[in-house]
Amino acid sequence: MKGMMQHRPLRIIDILIHAAEAFAEQGIVSARDTGDIHSQSYPETLARAAQAAHALRAMGIAQGDRVATLAWNGHRHVELYYAISGMGAVCHTLNPRLPAEQLAYMIAHAEDRILCVDASLVPVAETLRDALPEGMRVIVLTDAGAMPETPLDTLCYEDLLQGQPDTFDWPHLPEDTASGLCYTSGTTGHPKGALYSQRSTVLHALTVPLAQTSSFVAGRRMMPVVPMFHVNAWGLPYTAPLTGMTLVMPGPHLDGASLWRLMEDQNVYSSWGVPTVWAGLLSEITAQGRAPSAFRDLIVGGSAAPPSMIEAYEGYGVTVSQAWGMTEMSPIGTHGMIPPPLQGAPLDRQMPIKTSAGRRKFGLEFKIVDDHGTAMPHDGTTTGELYVRGNTVISGYFRNDQATAAAMDAEGWFGTGDVASISAQGQLVIRDRAKDLVKSGGEWISSIDLENAATSHPGIRACAVIAVPHPKWDERPVLVVVPQGDARPTLSDIHAHMAPHFAKWQLPDDILFVDALPLTATGKISKLTLRRQFADYVLP
Ligand code: ADP
Repeated sequence: MKGMMQHRPLRIIDILIHAAEAFAEQGIVSARDTGDIHSQSYPETLARAAQAAHALRAMGIAQGDRVATLAWNGHRHVELYYAISGMGAVCHTLNPRLPAEQLAYMIAHAEDRILCVDASLVPVAETLRDALPEGMRVIVLTDAGAMPETPLDTLCYEDLLQGQPDTFDWPHLPEDTASGLCYTSGTTGHPKGALYSQRSTVLHALTVPLAQTSSFVAGRRMMPVVPMFHVNAWGLPYTAPLTGMTLVMPGPHLDGASLWRLMEDQNVYSSWGVPTVWAGLLSEITAQGRAPSAFRDLIVGGSAAPPSMIEAYEGYGVTVSQAWGMTEMSPIGTHGMIPPPLQGAPLDRQMPIKTSAGRRKFGLEFKIVDDHGTAMPHDGTTTGELYVRGNTVISGYFRNDQATAAAMDAEGWFGTGDVASISAQGQLVIRDRAKDLVKSGGEWISSIDLENAATSHPGIRACAVIAVPHPKWDERPVLVVVPQGDARPTLSDIHAHMAPHFAKWQLPDDILFVDALPLTATGKISKLTLRRQFADYVLP
């Protein structure tokens, strides 16, 4: 028997409509790439999203079309999030730190129709010039006075919005309509697309504040340092307006001193991002002798938070929680809120929780499996590869059957590539990574891509890339090489050889020479043995 309740499809735009009514005095403060601080309320944001939707429609954008953004965290990027998904199109966020080759692949694979780019990122768009599809329009997210000189054929965002109606008849589409697209690195081959829906995005926005209640306080200010091109800034452009918080958007300057000043001036209460960013801010806090005045709540995700960092922030009166998630999970999977019995306990009793990845967010199922796919107990010590299932998890990759088949098991669970243990209380500890990737400053580097490129160097017989811990970047890639004959290629030889295919920050930091690479029972290179072999190695 069915229930007798109305069914209204979940829509992302309703979050902003709600915020504009219920939290009209809150809004978005942006440190723009033009150097100014800009503020606008949620009602103004809704009106500008409507204008952007009219402008995009006038340019021929229809439901289902992909519109790409290449932009930092700022109000115009938020307006586009709501305008594009609100009209039933798909907002495809591009990561400007990736090499041009990969960006060109994503634009072609997604069949993007329009590219919206920050003025400061126009040079990145220029590197894609020959790869932009025929007829693609480029909109620069600035006003007429700040339009950059460029050989690209560009349009000005503020000119396009000028004179457009400030309301839009937002369509009521089926709630599984695609709304956002974000590519993530594969261990091999091309990046893979996670295609979010209206429903998955709204459910994620509703469940994250339930899990991480300390971060969401109406009337206070939230700063996503995690970029809007990393899984929708972990959903904060949705959860902040939904819960009545003002968004403080840091723009392109993410160094410790810039963040400290912005947080101090704008009374930021909660901020979310990767450990690399928090290491930079911590140096500035140490130099200043205090945290920004209103700063109380810090969420670390994307990589494990080092215990020393947690202790240092707590010492400055900032409560630290960890979150774990993935692009494929919209992304939040766990949250590190301290459970009631330990709330108010001394830090040393809370540390085991703070240094773990946290507990399962409502609406997700977790299982850990052994090499044969057998589910292992949740006893806090047994480890296995973590599989997840739920309404905010992908059902497959966008237009990529091969990657989908590799990631999903027969019962529809998604394999995360993380090796973890889970306690009886649902506490997740990430123990290792089965996927062959290095995570540097929150960005992925494929070990296998590096190995393939390096192997074609005449001085290398065989090689393997391992991740080495790094105090600033969390991890850096190091190339372990079996040389060909007596030759010993230098690091700069290798860099010159590999540079055409990688961004500079993706190249290995060092070369270590060995006589042979350790192999597993099945004849594959044993990265685990290599990591153990070089456990005491310190980068130069
Ligand atoms: P995000 O942008 O949220 O970091 P990605 O899809 O780029 O999402 O990366 C997800 C991966 O990052 C996870 O599978 C895991 O390997 C790693 N990761 C994320 N959060 C943590 C964490 N808190 N501790 C350890 N590893 C983490």
